[in-house]
Amino acid sequence: MKRCAFLLILSFFFVFVSFSQSAPASLPHKDEKVLDARGLVLAPGFIDIHNHSTEGLDSDPLAETQIAQGITTAIQGPDGGSPWPIASWLETRRKDPAALNVAVLVGHATIREQVMGADFKRFATPAEIQKMADLTEQAMNEGALGLSSGLEYEVGSYSNTDELIAMARVATKRGGFYMTHIRDEADKSFEALSEEIEIGERTHIPVEHSHIKLGTVGVWGKAPDYIRIINAARKRGVDFLADCYPYEAWASNIKVIVPNKQYEDPASVEKAIADLGGPDHLTITEFKPNPAYAGHTLAELAKSNNLSPVEMYIRIIREGDAAGTEAGVIGHSMIESDVKAFYRQPWVMVASDGGIGMPHPRGAGTFPRVLGLFVREKHWLALPEAVRKMTSLPARRLGWKDRGVIRPGAFADLVLFNPDAVIDRSTFEHPRELPVGIEKVFVNGVLVWNSGVATGARPGRVLAR
Ligand SMILES: [Zn+2]
Repeated sequence: MKRCAFLLILSFFFVFVSFSQSAPASLPHKDEKVLDARGLVLAPGFIDIHNHSTEGLDSDPLAETQIAQGITTAIQGPDGGSPWPIASWLETRRKDPAALNVAVLVGHATIREQVMGADFKRFATPAEIQKMADLTEQAMNEGALGLSSGLEYEVGSYSNTDELIAMARVATKRGGFYMTHIRDEADKSFEALSEEIEIGERTHIPVEHSHIKLGTVGVWGKAPDYIRIINAARKRGVDFLADCYPYEAWASNIKVIVPNKQYEDPASVEKAIADLGGPDHLTITEFKPNPAYAGHTLAELAKSNNLSPVEMYIRIIREGDAAGTEAGVIGHSMIESDVKAFYRQPWVMVASDGGIGMPHPRGAGTFPRVLGLFVREKHWLALPEAVRKMTSLPARRLGWKDRGVIRPGAFADLVLFNPDAVIDRSTFEHPRELPVGIEKVFVNGVLVWNSGVATGARPGRVLAR
């Protein structure tokens, strides 16, 4: 266990920390390096429980967009999709360490595909469910921290609750948790929440609700009702936590907006577009068959092609299907009062749902945005509470006692930031712009980010269960 050998002198109100082990609150030894951190806040390194960097880590192990935010640990395998097999992925990561720590969940859809192959558009048989449970056990034994699902996506959406319960039971038995992108974040958000709570209640598995949101006009403003249901479940003993990214827009693929999967049915598409708030609320971020669509809203593309927004949507679906791909999109379909209500719940943590190379600004901006916008500018949260949501709260979900905290003996994953300056700079136009105000980041006691520059060190570890 590497302990930080620095003595940091801090003048900020809630952190005055000396963690030179042998000389607390006294002078540093003469060979110890001293940093003058006046005016800065020292916090545990940020733990991002929902991070999409499995591919990015191969090409960009320095993970600048991540460490520049103060992220020191990034959990992979969310939304039902994970590397497979878990053991070989962890081995690759061990041989080629990144600047930050990584860990992984096993994906429900990943396992479902292992068992059902291309024939996944149906409920699984009892024998198939047994196989999925066995593979969940294998993944947990190989080091996965839990099970993730993405029930709004193609493969996961054909599962039923019993299938998920069978897999969650195995994950519970192995000390894991269940992280879920629920079946619907739109008009049927409340039904989807009930299923999630049922899984938690029937299996006693700790639940992590991914990127909590209410994403269509029909459910806007209903955060208080959503919160009431979750608080009632927590009172009944469901170990329910959630995470939330600090934006009113989501990023996904173009098909997710049509919940009945009738992507070429004009009535279904028309309702889907209206539910988002209109065709100007949907922006194409990438589309291989026609890259010129990128950066434009569905409204703009419809107009320039002399089509209705519904016709334009169907054209993009057909062009994508013909090329075996789907357009990446950003949907501006949440409202601030809901985001604020969720952020103020003590059981809601910060997570990016971003990662290396993400075309949404959350990929490079999430943590500084919360500190700069929600804490300093909007006063939604006190600074210590925001830090807790980035550190000890995710650590609790992960079952970790020696990360996400600052104390002697804990791993020295640390971030030093300027509370008066910290802010995101990534935008929908320039999603990879780095934030400012994150001064220094240490991973396992090693400096990886130094005043705006990656040091090149890659001290990240693989954190297997
Ligand atoms: Zn998701």
